[in-house]
Amino acid sequence: MSDTIPRDFIRQIIHDDLESGKHPEIVTRFPPEPNGYLHIGHVMSICLNFGVASETGGRTYLRFDDTNPGKEDEEFVHAIKEDVSWLGFNWGDRLTHASDYFERIHDVAVSLIEADLAYVDSLSADEIRTYRGTLTEPGRNSPFRIRSVEENLDLFRRMRAGEFANGEHVLRAKIDMAAPNINLRDPALYRIRHELHQITGDAWCIYPMYDFAHTLSDAFEGITHSLCTLEFEDHRPLYDWILDRLQPPERPRQIEFSRLNLAYTLTSKRKLNELVNEGIVSGWTDPRMPTIAGMRRRGYPAAALRDFVSRAGVTKKDKLIEMGMLENCVRESLGDTAPRRMAVLDPLKVVISNYPGGQVEMLPAMNHPNQPEMGMREVPFSSELWIERDDFMIDPPRKFFRLKPGGEVRLRSAYIIRCDEVIQDASGRVTELRCSYDADTRSGTGSSDRKVKGTIHWVSAAHALDASVRLYDRLFSVANPNKAQDFHEVLNPASLETRAAKLEPGLAGLAAGEAVQFERLGYFCPDPSDDKADARVFNRIVTLRDSWAKIEQQALQSET
Ligand code: ATP
Ligand code: MG
Repeated sequence: MSDTIPRDFIRQIIHDDLESGKHPEIVTRFPPEPNGYLHIGHVMSICLNFGVASETGGRTYLRFDDTNPGKEDEEFVHAIKEDVSWLGFNWGDRLTHASDYFERIHDVAVSLIEADLAYVDSLSADEIRTYRGTLTEPGRNSPFRIRSVEENLDLFRRMRAGEFANGEHVLRAKIDMAAPNINLRDPALYRIRHELHQITGDAWCIYPMYDFAHTLSDAFEGITHSLCTLEFEDHRPLYDWILDRLQPPERPRQIEFSRLNLAYTLTSKRKLNELVNEGIVSGWTDPRMPTIAGMRRRGYPAAALRDFVSRAGVTKKDKLIEMGMLENCVRESLGDTAPRRMAVLDPLKVVISNYPGGQVEMLPAMNHPNQPEMGMREVPFSSELWIERDDFMIDPPRKFFRLKPGGEVRLRSAYIIRCDEVIQDASGRVTELRCSYDADTRSGTGSSDRKVKGTIHWVSAAHALDASVRLYDRLFSVANPNKAQDFHEVLNPASLETRAAKLEPGLAGLAAGEAVQFERLGYFCPDPSDDKADARVFNRIVTLRDSWAKIEQQALQSET
């Protein structure tokens, strides 16, 4: 095991199991149900399952838990595979489905019936619920619990043959209706579902329940450590009951860890599904979504997501992690690698009156201030430029070091300019600035060593590339939308703002998803799924600084 990875409690168990020789090799699985796209919580589970195996030279299965036909879809299967690969993990030839084992799972069910450890119950779903009892009251035996092995075998065979309607019978384990743990009160193992399955088609009309299929799949694959989230803790006695009956050669051990929740967003597939179906977002890959596909489209690097879940850590305590922590991982990952470019998101025209009209200079600019090996590029300079509207103020406060009437500012990689005249429209809105430039102050080569306090970015108007830039914000306006009665009421109405921006022309060739820093503004990348001919679409990946840190910490303290 690598020394650089801190040993959480699961890695400690795995370490001990290897040392003691309990297992010669670690085998894990990531078992998504293909009923939605994977989200940031799943990243935690993926990194943990694939991580602990690869760190120890073990193996990991990507297993689709496809026991719910009707809710599951091939689109989700594709998306899940793409997401896991993109995160940097490789399942090799270990891509499996619970449905691969339907025949074997069925055979185990038959052998449980033969051992009088399972029976066909013919109570209705409502009756089964009533008979189950409550947390404080034991359950009661179903009148069908005393059916003979022969009758059970016959009924189960006929269930499989399609002789009964949905809900007419279920196969239940015969454990203990008085068990304090409700999961042990004769849990259902099989139910009738006349529904086409995306892989097995109409081969089956009975489907195994999650707990049964999952435990057996783990056993069949020789999983050594079955890592799942805390809500399955109460299911562990059933997991172990099934394994005790099966006695597989390599006995898996279920270990639970806490779910990862991210503030200001949801990590429930059901609710994310609602956001998609109700058109609140543009789809599962909307860059505001906490889905892996959404975050990828937004421009988050895979390394940043891995880094984030490793910092969040594997624990037993439920956590709601600040969005700021994820965004910091993204910034750190992009800071050293994303080339710097100039773009103006809210353009204000500047005319340099003493610069010859029609003249164009190509000015060299550093691609990265701290990485000279990233080289230089040339940006065109001319007599008409765009600057950021809020880099100018008519009547600024004392410490405003940008442009003001009569004031001077340096244009990044270019010249010092002075604002000579302010043009306003009838409403008083500034429409243009007339400036003059000092030819001796060209960056790098100028003969003057004159210094001014502020430097701003700009783009040559004649050369600018038009782009639509999407600025994203939190999808929800409260830290924990999971707690809201109705999440619709806590949606952030300003989670998407679109700007008609002007970009330096070199950005035309940037590939979708390739991140750059727009100087002073943040990290951006071209959106991969928009290729409208009229304008390019850029996504803001993340701002340069965490303006939310304080607000978010306060909100988390008061809300969690
Ligand atoms: P959801 O509640 O969003 O539907 P799920 O648990 O039903 O999620 P699965 O497809 O069954 O989704 O999840 C696959 C694996 O990912 C499971 O082992 C599950 O425990 C794990 N997982 C799901 N959500 C989280 C989370 N928020 N944090 C950590 N692991 C998670
Ligand atoms: Mg699940």
